Amino acid sequence: MSSSTVELLKGAAELFPDEVVTQAHVRHLDLPGGAGRFALITLDNGFDHTKPTTFGPQSLAHLDAALDQVEQEAAAGEIAGVGVTGKPFIFAVGADLKGVELLKARDEALAIGRGGHEVFKRLSGLAVPTFAYYNGAAMGGGVEIGLHCTYRTVSRAVPAFSLPEVFLGLVPGWGGCTLLPNLIGADRAVTVVIENSLNQNRQLKGKQVHDLGIADAIFEGADFLEQSLGWTAAVLKGELEVVRPDIDRSEAWDAAIERGRAVADDKVHGAAPAAYRALDIMAAAKNGDLRQGFAAEDEALADLIMGGELRAGIYAFDLVQRRAKRPAGAPDKSLARPVTKVGVVGAGLMASQLALLFARRLEVPVVLTDIDQERIDKGVAWVHEQIDMLLLKGRLHQDAANRLKALVTGSLDKAAAFADADFVIEAVFEELSLKQRIFAELEEVVPAEAILATNTSSLSVTEMAAGLTHPERVVGFHFFNPVAVLPLLEIVRAERTDDASLATAFAVAKKLKKSAVLVKDAPAFVVNRILTRFMGEVLGAVDEGTPVEVADRALAPLGLPMSPIVLLDLVGPAVAHHVAGTLAAAFPDRFTPSANLGRVVEAGKRTLYVHDSGKPELDPEVAALFEVGDTVLTEEQVRDRALDAIAQEIRLMLDEGVVAEAQDVDLCLITGAGWPFHLGGITPYLDRAGVSERVTGRRFLQPGVASVPAP
Ligand code: NAD
Repeated sequence: MSSSTVELLKGAAELFPDEVVTQAHVRHLDLPGGAGRFALITLDNGFDHTKPTTFGPQSLAHLDAALDQVEQEAAAGEIAGVGVTGKPFIFAVGADLKGVELLKARDEALAIGRGGHEVFKRLSGLAVPTFAYYNGAAMGGGVEIGLHCTYRTVSRAVPAFSLPEVFLGLVPGWGGCTLLPNLIGADRAVTVVIENSLNQNRQLKGKQVHDLGIADAIFEGADFLEQSLGWTAAVLKGELEVVRPDIDRSEAWDAAIERGRAVADDKVHGAAPAAYRALDIMAAAKNGDLRQGFAAEDEALADLIMGGELRAGIYAFDLVQRRAKRPAGAPDKSLARPVTKVGVVGAGLMASQLALLFARRLEVPVVLTDIDQERIDKGVAWVHEQIDMLLLKGRLHQDAANRLKALVTGSLDKAAAFADADFVIEAVFEELSLKQRIFAELEEVVPAEAILATNTSSLSVTEMAAGLTHPERVVGFHFFNPVAVLPLLEIVRAERTDDASLATAFAVAKKLKKSAVLVKDAPAFVVNRILTRFMGEVLGAVDEGTPVEVADRALAPLGLPMSPIVLLDLVGPAVAHHVAGTLAAAFPDRFTPSANLGRVVEAGKRTLYVHDSGKPELDPEVAALFEVGDTVLTEEQVRDRALDAIAQEIRLMLDEGVVAEAQDVDLCLITGAGWPFHLGGITPYLDRAGVSERVTGRRFLQPGVASVPAP
């Protein structure tokens, strides 16, 4: 490593005293068949597999020292090759991102990029061939260290292999953007670097790593290292020739990059820079000039590390990885009661999805009920069809599918069906009096301690429980549609809900593999309240005279998963209008249901847009219903209005104690509405853009959390 980089890395190491250091242990062994002496470097941080190995500045320095040693041995002809592998179950999962928050200057960020390159690239400059043995999970820099080696093997047992950088807000910047397309071709590299990454960090398994050509050989997990060493011996003795396909450097390369840009546009709509930076470097990698490519990676890393999107991305990643697993305010889990049978009231859109989820995850009998046999049969049939589809896709075995189908049944007779249920959830129409009646009816038939849960999206859970003998067992259990896609579950503590019932609700949520967030019983809880508020501002602008297209484009620079009107169509104008009405009744100063939306609902229209021309356009019949004023706002004005409203509403929700902290609001928006990582949900963005201070007089997060330090 050059002395300037050593100095810069030393500086970075001082900034980051809490680094969990990955050691690079060198041991020597004799390869089978007299292939010679071999140096094997094992990356290990001294912890078990629950703390995966990562690279911070000190870890890079350790690897560098190990490479000093093997470089000398190789030069002296003492070894025939060098291998790199990981501790059990983990190869290495990349740069230690906890360190990013500590980097305050671009030079420090640049040092991290250069340091990684300078250390890793030594593996391609030794006097002997080098081998990476991907024995377990490999991500980011873990994948990249192997790309610098001459050869790679992978274990069939590898469960997760990815370059998640773009998803977080970085580029694969320790060689990945440059080396991967030169190894497997641009199109496959785009799949790994852009497509998989932007699809919620989709992981490859060992077999796919081999099929894609990233690894030259694949072996079973049980004797992976032994097999890899045998293979290494054969390669070194010339008994086995590794043939890789030629890389297509024609226009196909450019087409692959364009495909990547289309994927990025579809996912982040130009609102976050990482994917585009990665694609620029991958495009330039066509010329095969590694030095130039690595330099471009360093610059991109430094820019992105000093930008707000990455900091927000790391914050968001931490929320979904950690906060979601330890929900703030959840009671002691030892209070939870067991759940051995589930009842679902209603067999409609949500109820059927819930029945499937409960049966799959809890593996207990689930009984659906509704107002007539036909609706029940339809609900059960839908669940059975979904199970058949899972079977077809190979996600379930035949006997598991049979078992699952047998678990889900329907009955018109609530008394008989729910007599031994210990968790009953209702998902009937959104009407308070109906839900109250159903709970009263259920209380007559279910066991004394059974939980009564409601999937209401906006009504008061406290009022729903008011007339019951045992209101303490009522909880809100608010799922998001589609249930299989959106991980959020808002768990509502009503005024009289007791700890045991709440603990049971959290225990069930965990088994359902949902991200549970504890919320207070307040109108529309978290996600729907924020979405309705912001939608209200966009529709308000339309009612007052701003053209629909202008208002609908206003939020585009944020890169939300869909535009406001497309979201409105997905939710359904009637449902959205109903929730707006509930919120307007609670908070008339801030929520006004749109008069035009009211007319659309009254006319029975189910969407505002038609898609006849391939792209969404306002339905002429809807346009004819609109009555608008003459105040025309620009996109920017609509955006400011909507963001100001969001900031105000979040501050009010925090003051009311709807959730414990701003972090919970962000977690809800990410997992319940798909709001992007590069916004960190929303509060890091509102803080960064100055909206929080302007509207509420203060930031949502502490300075330094999810934000770039002031210069
Ligand atoms: P839906 O209209 O698809 O289903 C409601 C079902 O309840 C119907 O099948 C109806 O026949 C049945 N029902 C009505 N009265 C009943 C009674 N007395 N006994 C038994 N069944 C009865 O509605 P949905 O979209 O599934 O919504 C259900 C609940 O879930 C609502 O409270 C809604 O606010 C909430 N929710 C909906 C969504 C969504 O996106 N649709 C998301 C989250 C929560």
